[in-house]
Amino acid sequence: MRVATQATTIIRFPALGDCCDRVSSTRNDVRLRYPLITTLLFLVRVLWASPYTLVGLLIGGIGLCFGGRVRVRGRSIEFYGGGIRWFLHRLPHGQFTLALTLGHTILGQTDAALDICRRHEAIHVAQYERWGPFMLPAYYLSSVFVWLTGRRFYRDNPFEVEANDFHGGEHGP
Ligand SMILES: [Zn+2]
Repeated sequence: MRVATQATTIIRFPALGDCCDRVSSTRNDVRLRYPLITTLLFLVRVLWASPYTLVGLLIGGIGLCFGGRVRVRGRSIEFYGGGIRWFLHRLPHGQFTLALTLGHTILGQTDAALDICRRHEAIHVAQYERWGPFMLPAYYLSSVFVWLTGRRFYRDNPFEVEANDFHGGEHGP
């Protein structure tokens, strides 16, 4: 997730409606009734996303050797600070990148940055679970496609639109 860089950014805070509550409650019912199936499906999703998770663990592990920190939140392992922050700053627009998701790992600038964008990054984790090894090719091809059709490379990418729409995050002009 990147921070907005223009003053005209609009921040939306939609309330989660009954629809989301109903979906959530149905998922909880399924979890309670079929714990074995739920666990197996979760393991399949973890394995499917694991190539990127391994890359995240490698970068995060190296970052830990240079002052970084780690913690587990939900389904994700979050790395932040120290060498992880240094790594993020080396990426294009890295100074504006609060956090970056790789499979079930999230690399963040700071613990506060991770807290700010946790729900956004959780959508990316779900996207990795859905797309598995095809996630980054699909992500970058989507960016190229939207750019070729005159839209914004990052903010109009459907993966980012989904993550921003779900948590009501910022939308640039
Ligand atoms: Zn994002």
